[in-house]
Amino acid sequence: MLIAIDAGHYLGTPGKRCLRAIDPRETREWVLNGRVADRVEERLTAYDCQTMRVDDVTGQKEVTLFDRVLAANLTGADVYLSIHHNAGIKGGSGGGIVVYVCLGVGEDTTSLQRAVYEHTVASTGLRGNRSQPLGVANFYVLVNTTMPAVLGEFGFMDSTTDTPIILTEKYADQLADGIVAALVEQYHLKEVDSVTYEEWVAFYERYQKEQAKKEPTEKWQSDTVKKAIAAGISDGSRPLDTMTRVEGMAMVLAGKE
Ligand SMILES: [Zn+2]
Repeated sequence: MLIAIDAGHYLGTPGKRCLRAIDPRETREWVLNGRVADRVEERLTAYDCQTMRVDDVTGQKEVTLFDRVLAANLTGADVYLSIHHNAGIKGGSGGGIVVYVCLGVGEDTTSLQRAVYEHTVASTGLRGNRSQPLGVANFYVLVNTTMPAVLGEFGFMDSTTDTPIILTEKYADQLADGIVAALVEQYHLKEVDSVTYEEWVAFYERYQKEQAKKEPTEKWQSDTVKKAIAAGISDGSRPLDTMTRVEGMAMVLAGKE
């Protein structure tokens, strides 16, 4: 399962930014899109899937829509998720989340559209007031991708109600949670077991202790232990344990003394 993630635009895209009257820093849309994309990718490492980014993750380089779509198509991505933030309210209030698919898609795509919308509204609380939050639009990345594709507009950058919310780190976290929940539900993603270094060390120490308690079960092993004790090579302890190289050296030298 390969998930293509597209953080819309790049830092230099003209016009794509928050309205100055609401956000004096005029935060670029790519910054908002990119930080959500980063979080989605990070969260998905815990699941049995892979991700790829089709935008430039530094935001410095413009990647055309043609190249984004081509990358996903050539790599054989199973789903394409485009992350955007909206505009068009011009300093008024209201807005919310809208998730688009293109005309004529099948149930596999519309169910993903519904899942992304419902999970992100639930996780962020940004319900909004759009008459058609499940939209149909012939956006380039939706029409030209060969796999199910959805494009989310996750709140308005020029709305007095949406913008202060979508600028927060908390919103980015909640939005990523919602997107991941939708993907997990739609594609039955399973969490993969990951072992920390500390856990691995604890397992290895336990393994060594268990090995140390084991006794030889075959006659040649018992005979070898007896001969090694008689030859002064070993005291016969831990006969089935693993041995480090320096322990091996010590045993060989002990036999020569
Ligand atoms: Zn956009």
